[in-house]
Amino acid sequence: MSLRTAVAVITTAIVLVSLADSLTLVYATTRLQRTTQELGAGVESVRLSHDIGIDLLLHGRSQDAVVRHDLADSLRRRLADADVFVSSPGERRRLDAAVRHVEAYLASGTSDDHAAAYSSVLALIDTNVTDARHAVERAARLDRTSNLLGFAAIVILLVTVGALLLWLQRHVVRPMTALADIMSSFGEGRRDARAKVQGPTEVVAIATQFNAMADSLESERRSRIALLGGVAHDLRGPLSAMNLSVASMRIGALSPERSEAIAARLDRLLGRVERMVNDFLDATRVEAGQLRVELRPCDLRSVIAEVVDQVRASTSAHQLRAELPDVPLLVQGDALRLEQALSNLVGNAIKYSPNGGEVAVHARHEPGAVVVEVRDQGIGISDRDRASLFEPFRRLESASAIPGTGLGLFVTRGIVEAHGGTIDVDGAPRGGTVVRLRLPAGDSRELGPPA
Ligand code: ATP
Ligand code: MG
Repeated sequence: MSLRTAVAVITTAIVLVSLADSLTLVYATTRLQRTTQELGAGVESVRLSHDIGIDLLLHGRSQDAVVRHDLADSLRRRLADADVFVSSPGERRRLDAAVRHVEAYLASGTSDDHAAAYSSVLALIDTNVTDARHAVERAARLDRTSNLLGFAAIVILLVTVGALLLWLQRHVVRPMTALADIMSSFGEGRRDARAKVQGPTEVVAIATQFNAMADSLESERRSRIALLGGVAHDLRGPLSAMNLSVASMRIGALSPERSEAIAARLDRLLGRVERMVNDFLDATRVEAGQLRVELRPCDLRSVIAEVVDQVRASTSAHQLRAELPDVPLLVQGDALRLEQALSNLVGNAIKYSPNGGEVAVHARHEPGAVVVEVRDQGIGISDRDRASLFEPFRRLESASAIPGTGLGLFVTRGIVEAHGGTIDVDGAPRGGTVVRLRLPAGDSRELGPPA
């Protein structure tokens, strides 16, 4: 679940529970208010019906015409007042009966009608007292229910908030804290620290990215250590050979041929060391984005021909072919850097074809671009490995028996990209490898007329 969804769910849950609580309380207070009103009406009805009973008794006993007249008025007024407070059908029936009997008595004045009127008033009092008692009981019941509902609402709200806090703590806060701890312990130098991939989507994404970053930092660190070891190891070979050569020069007088042979050997060894150091420096420049190229109009055909000639001299096991068009292959380029890049690729094609075979450098025009392909029939590169080939110090398992530092392709890609071009690797149709460079085509007018 994502953090956004979690927050939405928590907010909705709290809002719903609060809403349910509020509705319950509003319902309870409304009911309580209505019951209180009924209770008030009941009390008023009891009081009025009592007064009616007293007026009726006094009327029956009084002989004074004026007093009887006043009491009759009072009786009618109180009966009319009682009408306002009627709260049940039973009370309505009793009151109507009382009004009828009192009117009959006031009209006839007989003691029979007086007795009938008085007993109908007593029945009215009875009904009112019963109604009032029921109202009191209802109010008490409602009070208890309201208390219970209020208590339940508080408990539900507390339980909901508590459960949500617990959920937050377990599924959000704890994974985030664990992630922060892992990150800081990685920062403090624990290189094997990796985050547990758990918690909300965002935390899972951060943990996954952190683990990937930590893995890549770690593999970079290992590569650097391996490189230092590799560079030291690779340098040790030519350096001890140079050492031996120098020592053999000191042994005594050497024939001119022997001296010449040793000098030539030292030259070759120095060249090897120089190339390794240069590759290392170039790789550092590419990594820092500081590889400088001086772009001038140049014909790639001469660069390719130069590289093929140089490499051809160093191998007899391979047939080297340059397939070039008759028209110039113009690019805006740094001829020396392009030579270095192509030399790396052709050098790889030779190196990774231990059984010999054909190595072809094919070049052609495509719309807006010049394409150069270096094709070999060597050990090939699996689809899976192609994506990682251009990483610094990357060497494939298949090449473990062949010497190299794994910087050639990294530097080559740096050079090609500095020219605004691209490089990719493909399998060759009959085994082997095709490395393809694509450089932006230059303007033919910039090269000037042929000499
Ligand atoms: P160096 O720095 O001396 O060039 P390297 O040749 O090992 O060392 P890259 O040229 O960068 O380094 O090549 C990287 C890896 O790619 C090689 O180690 C090898 O495994 C693989 N590779 C490169 N070119 C080829 C090829 N033509 N055929 C098969 N594998 C290749
Ligand atoms: Mg190489």
